[in-house]
Amino acid sequence: MNAVDRFNDILRKVPSNVKIVAISKTRPIALIDELYTKTGHKVFGENRVQELELKHNLLPADINWHLIGHLQSNKLKFIAPYIAMIQSVDSFKLLLEINSEGIKCKRIIPCLLQFYIATEESKFGFTIDEVKRMLDEPSFWDLMNIDIQGVMGIATYSRDNELIRREFKTLYSYFNKIKTTYFDNIASFREISVGMTNDYELAIQEGSTIVRIGSGIFGEM
Ligand SMILES: *Cc1c(COP(=O)(O)O)cnc(C)c1O
Repeated sequence: MNAVDRFNDILRKVPSNVKIVAISKTRPIALIDELYTKTGHKVFGENRVQELELKHNLLPADINWHLIGHLQSNKLKFIAPYIAMIQSVDSFKLLLEINSEGIKCKRIIPCLLQFYIATEESKFGFTIDEVKRMLDEPSFWDLMNIDIQGVMGIATYSRDNELIRREFKTLYSYFNKIKTTYFDNIASFREISVGMTNDYELAIQEGSTIVRIGSGIFGEM
């Protein structure tokens, strides 16, 4: 199967209310362009700013680019004018900087709060206590050029489905807690981005609204 067939296959398995972000990191421009042209899919994700910049400059302007990797604030200015969503927000400091860049380019930048849910040490993300502290801070609510639309998480890379399911449930419970305590009247806070090629069906069962699929579409690396 090629990328287009694999994409269409996944599209059939994913309920229509769940968004698919095609993770195109390390994939050639021509392959991304082919998927875009033959399927009309317009939502792609990258984890490195430099690569994102290159692809954004060469590919059609109506692609919605999501950033899914750890972001250094000095690179923010490059992507702020066009990024459709920064899924990988992992500190209050970064949010302040995203807000400042949003002001400069007169945009409200959609963001997700990335939570640390895996058992692996190396993964970035907030803890629930850090997020509560941030949201209890009145100055957070002065940030008018960011739009926090939900949460993101990366489960442990494992064959242990029960472990992964527990991590998905943890993220769902964080989402609920934050939603009811801080975003109850804010309809745009509604996304749970979790689930990748190996676990997206499980993730959707556990409430995921956005799945990030790379190798399932573009093939094994
Ligand atoms: C690479 C990546 C994905 C996609 O992983 P696949 O297993 O290839 O689907 C999803 N999310 C993040 C944060 C990634 O870095």
